[in-house]
Amino acid sequence: MAMAPYSTDKCGLIIVQSAVADPMNGDLQRMRRILAHELCHLLVREKSGSSQCLGDGLKDLKVRPCLDEGIAEYLSWRSIGKKNPILDKDFECIENLEEVDCFLNDFSSDKRIQAFYTSTRLVEFYIRELGLLTFFQSMTDLSERSELPTTAFGWSHKPVC
Ligand SMILES: [Zn+2]
Repeated sequence: MAMAPYSTDKCGLIIVQSAVADPMNGDLQRMRRILAHELCHLLVREKSGSSQCLGDGLKDLKVRPCLDEGIAEYLSWRSIGKKNPILDKDFECIENLEEVDCFLNDFSSDKRIQAFYTSTRLVEFYIRELGLLTFFQSMTDLSERSELPTTAFGWSHKPVC
């Protein structure tokens, strides 16, 4: 287990169990990917002036969860060159992005992985359309809109291969 349970725009905390407590953490490539993912969440908090404490319902997060998870997954994949294996399956993306945000914040939801997958595909789409830097700098502005401008850019929730 690894997570970033607390973060503000000034500091953040990442908790990582040792490989003794969680043998999967002995896989160094997996651990690098997870740490890159969690560090990206902290970077998003810093850049957007957000804070988060585990269990707070993401009420002080100024970036939509679907963009936050998507960019964390995208950058961790790019930083180590290997995708999260749970995203290798061809899930169908969830069309309603409000639902995606809710599922991402519900650790018991059976739709959470599908929401995670949708987030990753959505962010890949934005990065293709806008470029990484512009997308990263626009995450807060995009999140303030009542709806993400997906149709204007031609994003389809259907898998694109
Ligand atoms: Zn995450």
